[in-house]
Amino acid sequence: MSKQFQLKGIAAAGGIAIGPAYIIGKEEFVITKEPIAEKQIPFQIQVFEEALISTRKEIKDLQARISSEMGHDAAEIFEAHLLVLEDRLLIEEVISRLKKERLNVAYVFSEVLKKYISVFSKIEDEYLKERMADINDVGRRILRHILGKEHKGLEETKEKVIIVAHDLSPSDTAAMYKKNVVAFITDVGGKTSHTAIMAKSLEIPAVVGCGEATVKIKSGDMLVVDGGMGMVIVNPDKRTLASYLKEETKIKVIAKKLMAVKDLPAVTLDARKIEVSANIELPAEIDSVRQHGAEGIGLYRTEYFYMNRKDLPSEEEHFKAYKYVAEAMKPYPVIIRTLDLGGDKFISQIQTPKEMAPFLGWRAIRFCLARPDIFKVQLRAILRASVYGKLKIMYPMISGIEELRQANKIISDVKAELKQKNIPFDDDIEIGTMIEVPSAAMTADLLAKETDFFSIGTNDLIQYSLAVDRSNEKVAYLYEPTHPAVLRMIKNIIDSGHARGIWVGMCGEMASEPAFALLLLGLNLDEFSMPSFSIPTIKHIIRSVSSKEAHQIAQEALTLTMGREVEQFTQRKLREILK
Ligand code: PEP
Ligand code: MG
Repeated sequence: MSKQFQLKGIAAAGGIAIGPAYIIGKEEFVITKEPIAEKQIPFQIQVFEEALISTRKEIKDLQARISSEMGHDAAEIFEAHLLVLEDRLLIEEVISRLKKERLNVAYVFSEVLKKYISVFSKIEDEYLKERMADINDVGRRILRHILGKEHKGLEETKEKVIIVAHDLSPSDTAAMYKKNVVAFITDVGGKTSHTAIMAKSLEIPAVVGCGEATVKIKSGDMLVVDGGMGMVIVNPDKRTLASYLKEETKIKVIAKKLMAVKDLPAVTLDARKIEVSANIELPAEIDSVRQHGAEGIGLYRTEYFYMNRKDLPSEEEHFKAYKYVAEAMKPYPVIIRTLDLGGDKFISQIQTPKEMAPFLGWRAIRFCLARPDIFKVQLRAILRASVYGKLKIMYPMISGIEELRQANKIISDVKAELKQKNIPFDDDIEIGTMIEVPSAAMTADLLAKETDFFSIGTNDLIQYSLAVDRSNEKVAYLYEPTHPAVLRMIKNIIDSGHARGIWVGMCGEMASEPAFALLLLGLNLDEFSMPSFSIPTIKHIIRSVSSKEAHQIAQEALTLTMGREVEQFTQRKLREILK
């Protein structure tokens, strides 16, 4: 029996899960060696062949783009890369070793690749040295595709597993929906990375930023993931296992009790009504949204609609999804956030240049304003679907009034086109602005004049105002929702919105944290939007306090000088109120 040990990471999604580890290789190609059953060989060969095809397509696309942007000569280099893909010797060696050694294809391929590179590196010939660089480059591309496709192996496992990965992209996590994954842990990542947020949608526990989980854990090791504490126990002994099973039952009992308030309105003891709505990534989450008593959808992250597919969604596909969500939530509102591509969310069909600081780069509304062809497809679909329920539109990442005006102009153009074609839509559809960039937070008074509502995106607002990458575990200790700078911005946004008579919501993860609910209530937030399973808890808190008391808490919190003090103070107040 292996010895028990623990890994500490960042609590990304609460709950407890127990199950065997399933390791997914690192993107940096430190690849694990995993024995495979004989019946897995055809699947592994298929993964390899599909990776070759995908790599070929990727290189061809790249070649076409470079050729049109920089001329035919510049694109010539890719010819050599394509030749590598046709190297029969290399391909056959991988397949024959796979059959003989019965190891996972990523490992076998990387071993063959290493051998080739080592042979070439010993040859003193400039031409052959260049070929080595080609093989290396193409090899990495193939490996990336193999690793991506190996995730599909999950579909083959009947057993419930806990994914252990160096990193997972938001699209990897989205692909786990309704699969046999009961939790995941990663070496890197922060609390509000989209990978962590997706875990909440999947309603599975997750711990990110564990350091060397992929090195220390072996496939098949038994794990306990404590998502609430950010803790992973590897090979738990009997006593530990028993105590976690008890804890798991306790969590379930509390969750069941909280479900009793889920359909009650979120009103304070002195009758102030608050909207509590859900964040979704996929339309398939609607059942869970309803089960948890949401009074609308405060954030529909539509980027996921573009993920895990080969082409861009057509207007008709967008339309069907939005119509479905609008009808399913009727009479409650659904806020559709327009495409928020970039940052940590990439889409294979849209090739964007590699950037040094993607969160500060060509993302979200910036991308949509530069590509109105793509933007308009989505806007037309939202407007067409708006007659089937109560839809609202919301722009991500607005940094100032000019962007807001440009986006509004595009919507007016789309509306005019629809009118001309006699296509019905809700002409009074509310159009709101996410406030998640400090420049927008500081000019909220100006923006409030030209928008119908604000929704505060604290995940980004915190990372931008404190200069802390939200997906980097090394600086996670600086990521403080209660930092006085953040609180002042939130206050300014809410006050500026109210001064112009518009409502102000929050759809960042901060809105789902019990410890901050009293504070946000006291700052006069009108709407709280969060992952569905947090809704009963937040409703319960709102129903347990008067707005007068909440105001006093907020006033006092604003006088404190450190984020940590604010957090301790609000936690203490919460305990007092909930007794
Ligand atoms: C936010 O930034 O707070 C937000 C809700 O948007 P996202 O997490 O998708 O960036
Ligand atoms: Mg954001």
